Amino acid sequence: MSDGTQTPTELVAAAVAAGIDVLAITDHDTVGGWAEAERAARAAGLTLVKGVEISCHYDYSSVHLLGYLIDPADSALATELGRARESRATRLERMVERMTSDGIPISYEQVLAQVRPGATPGRPHIADALIEAGVIQHRDEAFADWLSERSPYYVGHYAVDLARAVRIVRAAGGVPVIAHPFTRTRCAGIPDSFIEQLAAAGLGGLEAYHRDHGPAEVARAERLAAEYDLLLTGSSDYHGDGKRNRLAENTTRREVLDAIIEQSSGATPVVRP
Ligand code: AMP
Repeated sequence: MSDGTQTPTELVAAAVAAGIDVLAITDHDTVGGWAEAERAARAAGLTLVKGVEISCHYDYSSVHLLGYLIDPADSALATELGRARESRATRLERMVERMTSDGIPISYEQVLAQVRPGATPGRPHIADALIEAGVIQHRDEAFADWLSERSPYYVGHYAVDLARAVRIVRAAGGVPVIAHPFTRTRCAGIPDSFIEQLAAAGLGGLEAYHRDHGPAEVARAERLAAEYDLLLTGSSDYHGDGKRNRLAENTTRREVLDAIIEQSSGATPVVRP
């Protein structure tokens, strides 16, 4: 329900076809896909871990925080997710304005046509509009240039402070895990001392096993997890055809899943019958 190219039902079917037995759904700043994913998971006999990926900032960098098994009715959490979604929409319009004034053939209406009803708008929808218009072939091309954070067309959006988001997720009964924390293009700037502070604030884990992490980043996450008693997760960060990532290219160990379920009180996973 954010920027994946499949519906939650199609996602569950793709997971089953890939031999996956436990799947987490973590859309950007929305839990709008939970109900449909839950129905599909029950029908398919798949365990579903419901979550969200919250847009946060640390310093001036964008960082994403996964919140597993949160209570979506928690008001502080719902407020933050709503603010992010609203700001994301106006931000896309401003990016498109900058692009069109530079002669890139795209309109905001074309971009909006790519956003499914109730979905969280994001830069991938601009890429999709460019694909639809025949300007590019794959989202990658747009992210390498026009949509990158270094592009003159880039506009940021509201994002909650990372430490505050960690506290909010815990208060909502969820388990906060930083999504690929050491991706070079993102937030290579998170110092170890800040991970220590986040751990004290309730951080549950680090997503270590991810295609944006090389051996040095994995080793760093493993060292920090041992030092601050954090869980280590792995995930494909699958977006359908929108990204090169394949389902189950990285996975989370069973004991870690059990610990996440044990620590959570916001939502119950849909358990495989
Ligand atoms: P936004 O949320 O608008 O800042 O856009 C970030 C989204 O774009 C995330 O879901 C990323 O996974 C996705 N993204 C980042 N780089 C690429 C890429 N090269 N190809 C496709 N999607 C990407």
